Amino acid sequence: MALTEAHPAPTTTDAGIPVSSDEHSLTVGPDGPILLQDNYLIEQMAQFNRERIPERQPHAKGGGAFGRFTVTDDVSAYTKAAVFQPNTETEIAIRFSSVAGERGSPDTWRDPRGFAVKFYTSEGNYDMVGNNTPVFFVRDPMKFQHFIRSQKRRADNNLRDNDMQWDFWTLSPESAHQVTWLMGDRGIPRTWRHMNGYSSHTYMWVNAAGEKFWVKYHFKTDQGIDFLPQEEADQTAGEDSDFHTRDLYRAIEQGDHPSWTLYVQIMPFADAETYRFNPFDLTKVWPHGDYPLHRVGRLTLDRNPADYHTEIEQAAFEPNNLVPGIGPSPDKMLLARLFSYADAHRARLGVNYKQIPVNAAQAPVHSYSKDGAMRVTNVSDPVYAPNSKGGPSADTARFGEPAGWHTSGQMVHAAYTPRRDDGDFVQAGTLVREVMDDAARDRLVANVAGHLSNGVTEPVLRRAFEYWRNIDQETGDRIEKSVKSND
Ligand code: NDP
Repeated sequence: MALTEAHPAPTTTDAGIPVSSDEHSLTVGPDGPILLQDNYLIEQMAQFNRERIPERQPHAKGGGAFGRFTVTDDVSAYTKAAVFQPNTETEIAIRFSSVAGERGSPDTWRDPRGFAVKFYTSEGNYDMVGNNTPVFFVRDPMKFQHFIRSQKRRADNNLRDNDMQWDFWTLSPESAHQVTWLMGDRGIPRTWRHMNGYSSHTYMWVNAAGEKFWVKYHFKTDQGIDFLPQEEADQTAGEDSDFHTRDLYRAIEQGDHPSWTLYVQIMPFADAETYRFNPFDLTKVWPHGDYPLHRVGRLTLDRNPADYHTEIEQAAFEPNNLVPGIGPSPDKMLLARLFSYADAHRARLGVNYKQIPVNAAQAPVHSYSKDGAMRVTNVSDPVYAPNSKGGPSADTARFGEPAGWHTSGQMVHAAYTPRRDDGDFVQAGTLVREVMDDAARDRLVANVAGHLSNGVTEPVLRRAFEYWRNIDQETGDRIEKSVKSND
């Protein structure tokens, strides 16, 4: 019999056994006690108790979709990666997120946004785990955990605390560029469709001849940049805390498929040695005047998830998924992330998280990983290498060593070797003075003054005025005046 609305599929247990009722538990008479042999009731209760998995720490709140990346321009002179060869089309998964909030927090809080892309390439999965900002708050991974704790909740009252945020920021002057960016218009995108995505980190590209280049990725929104002013964002947070999630889902559902054009900045390998500031410092951009954008292709989203939990909540993006032709750079933050993301996924999803369909490679997998909780694909013998039984063997001649660079030195706990133009406040000042117009600067001052007027106390407050004066004297003076007039 065909299953129709009049004859829907019969409810079963998870073992496929038909159940007798969706509404009533099994009791001794209509008014009697519930029986332990009500297998379906027990399964429903037990399953429900285990529905939640640990949320991400950070980037807990997010949404995502699926689509494709199409190469439109020839960058084969810079990378041999199959995903970036002319006319190649690759399926992708994407996840957008905010950083500091929890899984149910409002989408429109002021925060950077995650912009994580998984390319299901013919050479295995390639993940570009970026943000909607080209820079970051810290440049050494030792400070990352502390930075995130300062943005989340206090130990005593479990509240977020502006005083704690500014305490950390003003004691970490390398945060100035990202804080300026965050407090400006782009700190609250109107929707995820109206923001750019950046690799932020520098990566290495290697071409077929073995030549190396340093690159930064810029996914520019084809919808145009747009933002929410603070007041509108605050109101939206109250009216629809899932505003960005809903917007993306609706747009794709209605066939309004958002897209981004990928550009890269390319730095010749040797330039990095002598560039005027450290090109691997995550708190800096490479000025477009020095390294212009080269177009690579277009990323389009055209499919919504059918099951948020299996396809988005369990999606695992990891910057260590690098394919031949793409490698890391000496950016210390990136090098730490190469470890910490996969480690987070093992903790959150279990050791076999790469077998969850959204994380599974479309390219054939021939690894020697074996067993572990929730392994669902069969492993076949031999289970060790080297072997003489026909198991997979590494093709060293073809793939060689991964993309890398020469290094030597004493073991030290130290900051990057300083360079001529390495100042923490220089690019933040450029952003305020040369990129923002008068109206944007007015909004910046209002945003910062509003934030500082909400629970920030001495001596943090005094340090915050100084921090802003270091970025831009006039902006700092205006912020101080505005905070004092709010007293
Ligand atoms: P450019 O004039 O070539 O670039 C300025 C960049 O600023 C553009 O990419 C623009 O992005 C972006 N922008 C515009 N308004 C804002 C805003 N309110 N908040 C953040 N970014 C904004 O100059 P430079 O390359 O010399 O960079 C100058 C400053 O611009 C940097 O110090 C940095 O703060 C900022 N910036 C630079 C980027 C880079 O990679 N060089 C990237 C993003 C920001 P779009 O074109 O998409 O509108």
